[in-house]
Amino acid sequence: MTAPAAPAEPKPSSNFLRQIVERDLAAGTYAQRHFAGTPGDAAHHAAGQPDPAKIRTRFPPEPNGYLHIGHAKSITLNFGLAAEYGGVCHMRFDDTNPEKEEQEYVDSILDAVKWLGFDWESNGVSHLYYASNYFDFMYRAAEALIAAGLAYVDEQSADEMRHNRGDFGHAGTDSPYRTRTPAENLARFREMRAGALPDGAAVLRAKLDMASPNINLRDPALYRIKHAEHHNTGNAWCIYPMYTYAHPIEDALEGITHSICTLEFEDQRPWYDWLLDTLCTLGLLAQPRPHQYEFARLNVTYVITSKRKLRQLVDEHIVDGWDDPRMPTIVGLRRRGYTPEAVRLMCERAGTSKAGGWTDYASLDIALREDLEGKAARAMAVIDPVKLKLTNWAELFGNADHREPCSAPANPHRPELGNRAFSLGNEVWIERDDFAEVPAKGFFRLFRGNKVRLKYGMVIECTGCEKDASGAITAVTATVVPDTKSGTPGADAVKVKGTITWLGVHDALPAELRLYDRLFTEAQPDAGGKDFGAALNPASKKVVTGYIEPSLANAQPDDKFQFERHGYFVADRVDHTAAKPVINRIAGLKDSWAK
Ligand code: ATP
Ligand code: MG
Repeated sequence: MTAPAAPAEPKPSSNFLRQIVERDLAAGTYAQRHFAGTPGDAAHHAAGQPDPAKIRTRFPPEPNGYLHIGHAKSITLNFGLAAEYGGVCHMRFDDTNPEKEEQEYVDSILDAVKWLGFDWESNGVSHLYYASNYFDFMYRAAEALIAAGLAYVDEQSADEMRHNRGDFGHAGTDSPYRTRTPAENLARFREMRAGALPDGAAVLRAKLDMASPNINLRDPALYRIKHAEHHNTGNAWCIYPMYTYAHPIEDALEGITHSICTLEFEDQRPWYDWLLDTLCTLGLLAQPRPHQYEFARLNVTYVITSKRKLRQLVDEHIVDGWDDPRMPTIVGLRRRGYTPEAVRLMCERAGTSKAGGWTDYASLDIALREDLEGKAARAMAVIDPVKLKLTNWAELFGNADHREPCSAPANPHRPELGNRAFSLGNEVWIERDDFAEVPAKGFFRLFRGNKVRLKYGMVIECTGCEKDASGAITAVTATVVPDTKSGTPGADAVKVKGTITWLGVHDALPAELRLYDRLFTEAQPDAGGKDFGAALNPASKKVVTGYIEPSLANAQPDDKFQFERHGYFVADRVDHTAAKPVINRIAGLKDSWAK
């Protein structure tokens, strides 16, 4: 028996973001900040109270798909930092793009964040925000930039604009519209807003520097025309802010202190800083303003996380939906049986740094085993059953229907949970591969003449097997060795090298067992734009009918167990019922993929 597992809560090891937060807290960078209780502009926050939150972070998904394991990293990071340092993390839907969002995704994202164990409510205030509620302010800020001579309406064609932006080696060329006066720009921008121009006819651009070595600073677009209905604002707008304009503003309106994003936004940081500094100077946004920090995204081996490719798996029926237990989506991980504790622990251990890299999928299974070792009820299950007949049973006990009660600890680390009960009879189910007609070297289980212990039961001696006309084994036969029942005096007098798990034919419960494994056989199935189809694991799902211990008769959906010798399993949250048990394999007891 192994020692109880350590509690599976993440043990914070330091990382560069924690160091930045600690530096800011020590310096009092955000100590004087006011927060009005709701998002708003400089005047709004100035009229509010000093912010009781020491820091503010946010998790800002676009509601255009299901969250996956990469998002779990961002969630644990943002909500985790806020919790660690007396802060608050906002749940914000970045729904500035009118065409892609759906309520189904909003609901599933909220559900995923809660399931992971996080909450956007703090002191009775719900910090759940929608970026589309900031459209009025974003528009006002755009007019202010125009009035200050810092933005202009560009009516070049998309091709001209692309061409005139230049590239890494070549400075861009000023747009002929760049010299419009603020009054002209304001009038034209208002026409854009009023719907006078068709999609694509003009964009509002910031006036920065067309020769900047950072291409993101070559007059970035702020607004585009899109005659499209928005799920929140309906037809109120036909111009929509660009993500890179909207996002910094969203952060500032919400009083975010540390805006954490993935590395691909590193080149946007000078723009983030310019925009917020400018809007602070114009008196529109509260100070001190947010700062952006980038970290390397989480890459996990043996999964893909591109939304487009995940959708392809669903649409092409390669998996059975977004919550297929082989999917790296949060709904998939949850249905597979991974616990929020295991996902959080894996994310914490993956670390937070500027250097990318790959996290081995096995680390999720390791975290799961650590979490469930001390928690999950133990039970026996027979996955590939063959009948074992104990031929001297009636002789020994006076009656073929005699049942010998057996018991085992519910969880060996937690004696307070007591024992589970089942019984031994004249026929039991055993694993087919626990018997060999011709034993290989080192095989210590059932073969003619060999003795093994039926775990928590008795020692038996194998006498052979029965076969059908085709030669297939239909039953294994053995005799019980008297006076060897586990827990009785002298039970250990007969020494055996093998112990096997089993279930009484009379009390075993039939169950559908869904044996899941990795969806891909290659560590990086879509690396370098390669087609992941070639790397699909044909054995990623195997459904069998097996048997489970009678102690599981009342198992509820989502209940997790350790099947002795087999690994960790969960009652399927969608299909499991007491009348028709459906059990998923989460992970084996050991990594079967380790080289
Ligand atoms: P899209 O391609 O639609 O932009 P996305 O995966 O970036 O997809 P978002 O909804 O924008 O989706 O993501 C929300 C947050 O999750 C962002 O802050 C993003 O940086 C973060 N995130 C997404 N994938 C990962 C990942 N693999 N590791 C860490 N953070 C991630
Ligand atoms: Mg994104």
